[in-house]
Amino acid sequence: MQVAVIGAGAAGLCAARHIMYSTANRATPTVFEKSNCIGGTWVFTPQTGKDERGEPVHSSMYLDLKTNLPKEVMAFPDFPFRNTDDSFLHHSKVLEYLEDYCRHYDLYKNIKFNTKIVNVEPIDKGGSGDVKENWNVQYKNMQTNEVHQDVFDAVLVCNGHYSEPRYPKIPGLEKFEGKVVHSHDFRYSQDFKDENIIILGAAASGTDIAVEISKHVNQVYLSHNNPLLPSKLPANVAQVRGIERCLSPNGFLLTDGSRVQCDSLILATGYNYDFPFLSEKCGISVENNQVKPLYKHFLNIEHPSMGLIGLCFRIMPCSFFDYQIRYFVKILMKEVDTPTKDEMYEDTEKEYNYRINTLGMREKDFHKMGDLQWDYNADIAKLANIQPLPPVIEKLYREVWSRRKIDLVQYKNDKYSIKDSDQFIVKHI
Ligand code: FAD
Repeated sequence: MQVAVIGAGAAGLCAARHIMYSTANRATPTVFEKSNCIGGTWVFTPQTGKDERGEPVHSSMYLDLKTNLPKEVMAFPDFPFRNTDDSFLHHSKVLEYLEDYCRHYDLYKNIKFNTKIVNVEPIDKGGSGDVKENWNVQYKNMQTNEVHQDVFDAVLVCNGHYSEPRYPKIPGLEKFEGKVVHSHDFRYSQDFKDENIIILGAAASGTDIAVEISKHVNQVYLSHNNPLLPSKLPANVAQVRGIERCLSPNGFLLTDGSRVQCDSLILATGYNYDFPFLSEKCGISVENNQVKPLYKHFLNIEHPSMGLIGLCFRIMPCSFFDYQIRYFVKILMKEVDTPTKDEMYEDTEKEYNYRINTLGMREKDFHKMGDLQWDYNADIAKLANIQPLPPVIEKLYREVWSRRKIDLVQYKNDKYSIKDSDQFIVKHI
């Protein structure tokens, strides 16, 4: 079997690793990567907007970013980080780790660099929805602009989901004269030296940037409509309500009627899913931040020889990818039963009802995991007949989240080590 893997970030590398080593040579991956290196979002670049080839810059890293998960839970389950004592790492260490993974599993030889996927289309076999379907995959050589096409038996979409910024509508924003920067384009805190900044959005990126940038600026207003964060914050970070509209070249009206004056606006407002290379015939659509129709958030129900890896958020990405991919490979190799289309639709509807109607989650959070990831991981492990994650991983992750909740400023100084499959040790520095 020939499997096309789109993207050589963490997900695409993990896909190549399992296709190469978990199929007893019955399947071969070809990884298509539009840039000239592996690592995806972990490849820091000072560039923003378009690169020298006219391609949108992919990475969302800023210069001083440190991971928000400790390496002890961030690693792939079969490949711990090496050569570092710290738990929370600078982004360059994560790139080194992925390069190490790639070398260790000898994946480079299966990667076509500077090769952008431009179209993916199932070959019409009467819509059987078989896992042994064929796909036409068109790719462009970014150096010569030549377009080629090959046929594959399966496709794994690993193109990353933190590159297409979501911009909120802020009435009157055209009046604002300061910088307006989406977190995707945020690179250097120094660019905002001594300014008053408003950051819109207080999820992972918003809080992370607030703490980081506070070291260089005069005042940060962390603007959001969630319940106030209970965490300690730097003295010059104030939580304020969300932005109602822009009033003047440097002023915003907030949803509680108060006003703030600032020099720059940072939009930490998230990202949109984007699959510009999937033809309509793939049957995938995105509505209200939900990618449909998917079984277990990754398997294309209409064409189960296509998987879309890592769409979920609030997860431990590497092990999450690893479990989805191993299940996909087992389905492909017919080592586990593939549910029928009806069963997959029924399962997805049940999950939708549970999340939206029972738990009261918002439609746009359909792919959000958080506490739901443990049952999900266990479910995938059972379906794929693979070892579940050891209990220590969940315990450590929960500890980090509770630390982070109360101390966004210090939690990245903590050092963890895993003692055994059930226990970890923590040092608060
Ligand atoms: P990406 O890393 O985005 O890789 C996708 C690859 O696909 C890219 O190389 C891209 O060039 C390629 N590609 C896209 N389209 C095409 C095409 N048409 N043809 C060919 N190639 C294509 N996770 C953690 O575990 N811990 C953290 O601390 C953490 N911090 C983060 C901080 C930021 C600012 C961001 C943005 C993300 C963070 N993440 C973190 C999540 C991170 O996204 C995942 O850990 C993981 O690296 C995502 O891997 P990926 O392979 O899905 O996507």
